[in-house]
Amino acid sequence: MSGGRLAVVGLGPGDLRYLTPEAETALAAADALYGYGPYLDRVAPRAGQRRYPSDNREEVARAAAALGDAAQGASVAMVCGGDPGVFAMAAAICEQIEQGPASWRTLDVVFIPGITAMLAVAAKIGAPLGHDFCALSLSDNLKPWSLIERRLDAAASAGFVIALYNPVSRARPWQFGNAVERLRRHLPETTPVVFGRAVGRPDEHVSVTRLGEADATPADMATLVIVGTRQTRIIQRPGRSPFVYTPRAAAEVSA
Ligand code: SAH
Repeated sequence: MSGGRLAVVGLGPGDLRYLTPEAETALAAADALYGYGPYLDRVAPRAGQRRYPSDNREEVARAAAALGDAAQGASVAMVCGGDPGVFAMAAAICEQIEQGPASWRTLDVVFIPGITAMLAVAAKIGAPLGHDFCALSLSDNLKPWSLIERRLDAAASAGFVIALYNPVSRARPWQFGNAVERLRRHLPETTPVVFGRAVGRPDEHVSVTRLGEADATPADMATLVIVGTRQTRIIQRPGRSPFVYTPRAAAEVSA
């Protein structure tokens, strides 16, 4: 059968102001929507459109089901929070295409970008990602904690700003404190740290602290943390919230 299509769609960080026109068009054209339940809830129901919400840890089954549906001729949208390529379903779909039936390789599959959490959080607070930066997931579901520690060491000692996705979950209560302790080995206690929670949603909260106190700030599954460098600065603004920024120029980092 032919004519099927799969669009892997980024919804952005929060409400639909952040949805791109391209994503909106793909959602409107879909016969069937797949995705993690809370992300699907953000998309208004349309008459005649099938919906398949699934649980957080079911990425493999969700990807295979969406590809199978598209292979049967349906126009399918897989929805993701933020951007589909950032710790989300785009790579899971590619894994299934590589491992699955040969016919999946000839399907019409497109990836539609969305605003990822680190960009949304950064924009709320100034320009913390103004110089070189990296993104790291603190989830050790798909990689060992020892590798995360090695990457934290490497990123902090090389002078990257670090955006930490998945800092904490109910199943992973200790990892964030451990990561902060690790980063303190490389960076001064005064290093600015930004916490952005539920950015772009009604309960949005953005706060600034220093690395010395960062493990005392509550973080959860809806929080993204940006850890600055030795160059990252806080601008106090009377009567207004502070700006955090990383200047565009940097000197050599000492080994
Ligand atoms: N694909 C998503 C990331 C999925 S991983 C994206 O591009 O944004 C899930 C993690 O993303 C969360 O644990 C949190 O760290 C971050 N996150 C997602 N939405 C967020 C939001 N609205 N505000 C702050 N952080 C968010």
